[in-house]
Amino acid sequence: MAEAIIIGAGYAGMSAAALLANSGRRVIVLEASGMIGGRALSYKNEKGYVWEYGAHSHRLARKGIANEAFKRLGEEIDFLPEVKDAKLIFKGRLWERPEGPAGFLKTPMLSFRARLVLLALLIKIKKANPSEWYDKTLLDFYKTSFQNPEVEAFLPFLGMTIMCPTPEKVSAGEVIEFLQRALKAGIGVGEPRGGSAQIFSKLKKHIEKNGEIHLSEKATKLIIDNGRATGVKTDKTTYSTKNVIFAARLPLVLDLMDNHLLPKATRNYARNIENSSGLTLDFITDKPVTNIRAGILGVDIPIWARFQSNADDSFTPRGKYISTWGIMLPWHFDGNKKIVEETEKRLKRTIAAILPNFLPMVVEERKTVVPVMNGNVLTPAQSKPHRPDIECATIKGLYLIGDTVKGDGCSGDISFSSALIAADKICSGFNPA
Ligand SMILES: Cc1cc2nc3c(=O)[nH]c(=O)nc-3n(C[C@H](O)[C@H](O)[C@H](O)COP(=O)(O)OP(=O)(O)OC[C@H]3O[C@@H](n4cnc5c(N)ncnc54)[C@H](O)[C@@H]3O)c2cc1C
Repeated sequence: MAEAIIIGAGYAGMSAAALLANSGRRVIVLEASGMIGGRALSYKNEKGYVWEYGAHSHRLARKGIANEAFKRLGEEIDFLPEVKDAKLIFKGRLWERPEGPAGFLKTPMLSFRARLVLLALLIKIKKANPSEWYDKTLLDFYKTSFQNPEVEAFLPFLGMTIMCPTPEKVSAGEVIEFLQRALKAGIGVGEPRGGSAQIFSKLKKHIEKNGEIHLSEKATKLIIDNGRATGVKTDKTTYSTKNVIFAARLPLVLDLMDNHLLPKATRNYARNIENSSGLTLDFITDKPVTNIRAGILGVDIPIWARFQSNADDSFTPRGKYISTWGIMLPWHFDGNKKIVEETEKRLKRTIAAILPNFLPMVVEERKTVVPVMNGNVLTPAQSKPHRPDIECATIKGLYLIGDTVKGDGCSGDISFSSALIAADKICSGFNPA
């Protein structure tokens, strides 16, 4: 019998399975789709391009949460060297991204007065206690001490660091918690060499030491006996197990079980959860279009861009160059095609304004509408204290992990962090007999 059945082969499921297998527990990972990776899917296609479902990077690189999980496996993520040439889009122009508080004091993006206010805001963030601010928005936090229209227009940048660029929506506690860690670490994001494929191939190697990954096998029911998770039914068979780790977005667990068995708060959270959506465009060119290596982030427009080939030539066949641009779709996006068209035009207008030679050089383009980007937007109601517990309080042996539960950080970091917590809990109660 497997020590744990893990449902989902994204960052969360694969890292939990690797951690357990590495410490001697037998695991089975079930993945409904035909590929490992979930929302961080990344693979080399038959033409030699690394295609990714959004180019993923890892906050705080080697000092970040994803690498923490790898260190526990006795290795590290191989990140590309950090390059300090990132740019920001603000007021329709491209600017050097300031590095740290000193950089913000010197940046020509803002007037001298605004720079002083921004510095005072960063000092206030550094000293604040995140726990006192989870239930308030970034705008609330800012307005308790400051009033400067230029700095207010800059606040989306702080929200964008945790993928919620709306100051009146993002939890101040989450922004404070992340920026405090970032200021302490003094390091930006890390790009895994070869993309997320590296992450998954390393995790797979650990899982295969003591377990199996079953692709194209969908969990259809959690088996719960007398308040204990004892197995999983799939579209192929039934498994018995000591622990079930549900490693997909929380709303999906509701389809697999009698919802009343879950704690009421977890059930309600899963039913009402708010995610973000986006649109990504991958562009292939025959020449590099810019020499930027560290990427671009929008301040007053929710855009991000990566120029993978400028830093890593393993992404394309020889003589081809790839870059990925993303833009957030409006909150509560419902699949409306008109909104997608308008958002795509907005993204392309911005690209044309900041890099006029870019679009005419594109020889191939791929568009991906991403209905769920972050499974859990970090609003006050969805900030860490309010997210569901990882160990289910009403069903023994059931763990809920992924980017929608009570892990640390933001986006994929929540997935890695919740996997670490679940693996530790299972290992601490492990009885090899
Ligand atoms: C375009 C884009 C860009 C992003 N950029 C970043 C970034 O740069 N940095 C970052 O940290 N985060 C980023 N994110 C967010 C990040 O991708 C997610 O937070 C993370 O991948 C979530 O991983 P997960 O394992 O929790 O869930 P998922 O990746 O959703 O994995 C869940 C898996 O479970 C499977 N599954 C679901 N139901 C079943 C079932 N019944 N049976 C079996 N299998 C099932 C699914 O097929 C899926 O493979 C980005 C997301 C997108 C979409």
